[in-house]
Formats: sequence, C-alpha cells, structure tokens
Amino acid sequence: MSLTASFVLNNETVLCRYIGEGWLPIQVAMPLTFINNDGAHQTYQLGCVPLLVSNETAKATKTIEIDQLDESAPISATYAVTVCYANSQHIVFPTPTVEVSADAVSGSSTDEPIALGSVALVAYRQLIPHLPINLACQLSQAIQLLRWQADTRFCSRCGEPVTVASRGERAMVCTNCRLRQYPRVQPCVITAITRPNPLTGEMQILLAHHHRYGRQTPPLQYGLIAGFVEVGESLEHAVMREVGEEVGIKVTDIDYVSSQPWPFPSNLMLGFRACYAGGDIVLQEDELSHADFFDISNLPKIPFKGSIAYHLIEQIAHEQGIIL
Ligand SMILES: [Zn+2]
Repeated sequence: MSLTASFVLNNETVLCRYIGEGWLPIQVAMPLTFINNDGAHQTYQLGCVPLLVSNETAKATKTIEIDQLDESAPISATYAVTVCYANSQHIVFPTPTVEVSADAVSGSSTDEPIALGSVALVAYRQLIPHLPINLACQLSQAIQLLRWQADTRFCSRCGEPVTVASRGERAMVCTNCRLRQYPRVQPCVITAITRPNPLTGEMQILLAHHHRYGRQTPPLQYGLIAGFVEVGESLEHAVMREVGEEVGIKVTDIDYVSSQPWPFPSNLMLGFRACYAGGDIVLQEDELSHADFFDISNLPKIPFKGSIAYHLIEQIAHEQGIIL
C-alpha cells in the first residue's frame, strides 16, 4: 500500500515527540487511498491539506512504504491533517501523553522533566526556534490552510455553504453561486532602523517595547517596528508610514532583506532595513510603551531566534563583528 507522510495539528499546536534536545513534529503514515479517492484528483479535503515540499525533500517523501516511515525523521511531510480528520479517517497516530503549556520554553523547562519519547501537542510558536527553516515553513503553511478551511464555511457573497474545490485547487466554492474564495495572505512590513550613536559612532538599532507583549517580568522584550500594508500602498510607503505613525521619525535608504510566512494570523512578514534620517522619537502610546536606539553591543531582550526580527538584528550585528 502506498503511503504518504502527514503532520497532525490541532489549531496552532503540532503533534510532537520529545527527543531530548526538544520537541520534533511527528509525521504519521497516511494511505494515499484516503486522499486519492476521486481518481487521484481529490487531493484537498476538509481537515486535510497538501503542503509545499522543497525539491531536496520531495524525493524522500513522495511514496513511503509503511516499514520505511520513520516518524522521527526530520523530512518534509506532504500533507497536514487535523486531529479531527485523523480520527474520522482512522489514521493511526500516537496519543498525546503529556500536556505542554503554551508559554513553556522548549527543552529548558524548569517544570517536571519530560520523559524521552513523550508525545504532546506543542504550540508552533514554541517550536520555531528549534526547527529547520523548511520544516517551520511547512508547519506555518499547514496552520494557515487548516484554519482558513475551518473559517471559510459560507459564501461571502450569498451566504450559502461552501465546499472544497475539486481537482486539488486551494479554494472553497459556493454551492449556490460558485464564487471561489482563496486563502488570503496579509503582507506586513517589519523594519530594522539603524544610525550611528551620535556620541560614540557605534551602530545603533531602533527597538520598541509593545503593549501587546503583555505584562512581563524583567527584562522587557523589545522588537522592531512592524505593521500591515494598506490597500493601494507600496511596501516602501508602508515602511515610511508605519515608522512615522509608531515612532514619529523619518527614514531613508529603505532596502528589502527577506521574508517569512507567519501564521498569526496569516501574515507574510517582509523584512526591511532603513537608515534614520531625522526627527525625535514620539511614541504611538496605544501601541508602544518605550522605544529607543540601542547600541548593537548592548541590546535589550530581542525576539527569539527563528523570527525575521531576530534575523534582521543578527545581520546588522554580524556586519559590526558582533555575535548575538
Ligand atoms: Zn455564493
């Protein structure tokens, strides 16, 4: 019997096994007959989504015989299913044996030690710093598509129920007027603004403490300036507008660096760098509680490794010969 590998998810949590250094997403064997029951065309069902697979890993996962499927191997899965779907299709998957709180730090929890081989549904946020980038992207895609399916139940034009499009297309189709609804990505710009320290010349980076980080025990977490792109706006304009709105300064030399899909809720983070061009910091107080330029050699607590904010800050630090 031909099998494929699938992740199992429940909302923003992923079924994982504890392997000592941390949690690794489990890939369960799923008979291809489930998903190809419509003459190989029905590849898209409620609670079951095909994932993008990178070229290097595609060969490894295309068809997997049951005795070759090593659930702990960090290979790319070709599908993701919800716990609900897995149960309804009688897909065999390990039952969670422990609960992992959403704010626990993977691998360094001071709570009860976790037994090797334990199985749990672990929050995606908690996994990101420890996952290879292609695996993190696959899970990000899985979360967004499964949630989009669950949230797209009725036609936005006529209000009738929708159904999954045939032939594997990622769309929900109205049963009445045939309107097609596609998953939506929300572009969001995030910017690392630099300037030389006016007194010492050391490179500085603008960081802000957001109210949305919530009440924290010190040290306070800082991040970069970020916000959604508005309709009719270029990315560069969005950078200038967000920076102006949040901290009141002007920037120049806006350069794109890289991007990251971010499934909270369905963002595409577009990372930029910019140079300070003038003005005093004036906080948008309903969003920020503090913002300032920090010397690269003396940064406050910054976002975790694996986030695009960390990547942008790390790049600037690296150019200055500093290892974060
Ligand atoms: Zn309709």
